[in-house]
Amino acid sequence: MRIPSELGATASTYDASVMPTRERARALGLVVPVKGWFGRERDLLAEEPERTRQSVEVVVRALLTTRAIREADDEVGASTLVRLRDEHERPTERFVAATWRTLAARVDARTRRPCSSCSFTPGRSTCIGCDGRGVIVIGQGRSQEVRTCPGCSGKKSVACSRCDGAAETVIARVRTHEDRVGELEHVFSSLPEAIRDAVSRHLLAATELDPAFAVDLDRPIVPRETGYRGEVVLETPHLFGIDVTIPLGEARAVLARLAASGTVVDRAQQAHAVPVCVLEYGSHDLALVASSHETMVAVMSAKE
Ligand SMILES: [Zn+2]
Ligand SMILES: [Zn+2]
Repeated sequence: MRIPSELGATASTYDASVMPTRERARALGLVVPVKGWFGRERDLLAEEPERTRQSVEVVVRALLTTRAIREADDEVGASTLVRLRDEHERPTERFVAATWRTLAARVDARTRRPCSSCSFTPGRSTCIGCDGRGVIVIGQGRSQEVRTCPGCSGKKSVACSRCDGAAETVIARVRTHEDRVGELEHVFSSLPEAIRDAVSRHLLAATELDPAFAVDLDRPIVPRETGYRGEVVLETPHLFGIDVTIPLGEARAVLARLAASGTVVDRAQQAHAVPVCVLEYGSHDLALVASSHETMVAVMSAKE
């Protein structure tokens, strides 16, 4: 029976029969040569494994932009004030981090005051390029050379950055907008470490995973028909006959953490559930990874 899911795919897409097995791998003509005694090659797949383990690996690639906005009073000079007045809400460039400031309220002229950053030398502050010496020394030993500081042109001081040289400031309510870009490329796995790393590397290197294995992490995944007027209920998510509560839960939690640094304003997200069967041999772990409904890839990791 094919039950339409919310994904537009069908429940049979994630049927247990898609889970790779040694028998199907051999039927597909897969051969895994390993060196045996005296350099003789043998096909690992022809041998009975000591143990078999099934898993569903959840591959997630996501990029998201979050925007955080905060307001605070700041002491600013006249030209900074002009810049703040001219800045408006910016359109977001896709997945580019940016920070900008705008004016949150009208400025009260009564807050005019002498600039607190340059009270000893009104309008000027010590050049940080030359530490107030007016010159810089470049090179070492005999090739040492003294040059006029390019930061202050030898004047030893520069216009105060807070008041832009005006020696006077006002208190402005400033809104800081910050677009942060979060990135995630990870395989959520329930496999033991050694073979997990090999399988993860293989899955992350795969340029394109089968669209039929796509899962939507924003929605519950597996619907079940109750038989009552075609009603569909959601239950513990099983994909390919495996309970995927843990890898899906982990993937969702990590994505939620990425999104928590502000309001999500842009997002691109891809998740795939890939059925894997690990055959454990004395010398090797061999993972049979379904790359589609019909094809399989063998990924091997040697034991210490
Ligand atoms: Zn200088
Ligand atoms: Zn100043």
